[in-house]
Amino acid sequence: MAKMMKALMAGGEWKPRPGYTPTEREIKDKRALLGSNIFYNPTLELVEIPVPEPADDEILLKVGGAAVCGSDTNFLGSDEDNYSHYAGHCKLPCVIGHEFSGEIVGVGKDVKELKIGDLVIAETMNWCGECLACRRGLFNQCENLEEIGFSQNGAYAEYLVAKEKLCFKVDGLVDVYGSKERALEVAAMVEPMAVAYNGVFTRGGGIEPGGHVVIFGAGPIGLSAASLLKAAGAAKIIVFDPNKTRQGLAKDVGATHTLDPFEIWGKGEKLSDHVLEITKGVGAAMVVEATHNPSENIPEAVDMLMAGGTIAQIGITADTVSLHPVYMQKKGANYHFAIGSSGHGTWPNVIRLIESGRIDPSKYLTKCYHLDDAVEAIQAAAKAEGGKFVVTPNW
Ligand SMILES: [Zn+2]
Ligand SMILES: [Zn+2]
Repeated sequence: MAKMMKALMAGGEWKPRPGYTPTEREIKDKRALLGSNIFYNPTLELVEIPVPEPADDEILLKVGGAAVCGSDTNFLGSDEDNYSHYAGHCKLPCVIGHEFSGEIVGVGKDVKELKIGDLVIAETMNWCGECLACRRGLFNQCENLEEIGFSQNGAYAEYLVAKEKLCFKVDGLVDVYGSKERALEVAAMVEPMAVAYNGVFTRGGGIEPGGHVVIFGAGPIGLSAASLLKAAGAAKIIVFDPNKTRQGLAKDVGATHTLDPFEIWGKGEKLSDHVLEITKGVGAAMVVEATHNPSENIPEAVDMLMAGGTIAQIGITADTVSLHPVYMQKKGANYHFAIGSSGHGTWPNVIRLIESGRIDPSKYLTKCYHLDDAVEAIQAAAKAEGGKFVVTPNW
């Protein structure tokens, strides 16, 4: 009999929302490009399933850490019509958890470099490497994308399988954090750091050292962006977030100023005026948008950018933005859009930054939870009770 394991499974009935016609790819193998359009009566429960067997090109990972992402909170409850909150790609039922690390305990016969005992993390976005987007180097835009923790079983489980081509070794973090366990807990936070790296540097083009930066949102992505931009030589780092705990965490990773945007708007003032005052009229070389509120933030961002400045849109939301292009044109401004973290050597760059002590995501690792309490960890993330919450299924 196959060995069994515990796993946190998200489920839902395939029942397209009235008025929504599924696309060909959605119908072909019962996946949703936006789960909220299709999956009805969503569920989230701890189940017992067999430990997976690695395919020839896969490794079997004993999960170390599985970090809770904001997108995981969308699998709690349902909307007023009893549809999933998750407005992203998914194929249910599926074990969720997509920011993870672990120790290799099994390898398929075609696995070349990795071996049992290696500590690794793996890209969430299981890109194909064959479609036109992949062949242009745009792995995050893969047309045949599978996503670990959304369309194939993820990391809120004792074990998972991943393709060798998606893995990167993190053994070097044991020296930094003093133990294998702690190294793996922190390594699970490379994924959101890589999402921020992709938005700020790969898509956003980065900043010249000495530029001022503004970050909307001090959730894990905003905190990651602050860490990276400090390492990149940002002068002033101004973070907008109403949550006092998160303001404190932003300071811990290098924010020079933290402000509550709602307090400022409440007084009838503009955020951009505060930024211009703090930066002595210079403005921001880069504004990072990492919230669910771009409709209010982006018009402010336009007013706080310096000439040639860049807005990096990383937050994902159904919110819409109204822009007056001529103000962007007059400033020679850029607005870059980013999703995902794959490709471009992003993950190894993040790992080396942590190994060298230039960034330290453990500063906002608030609490670890056992797998039995994974739902509690996701609820804590939903309430923004700190920085990052990590589930440790094997200790
Ligand atoms: Zn995530
Ligand atoms: Zn592809």
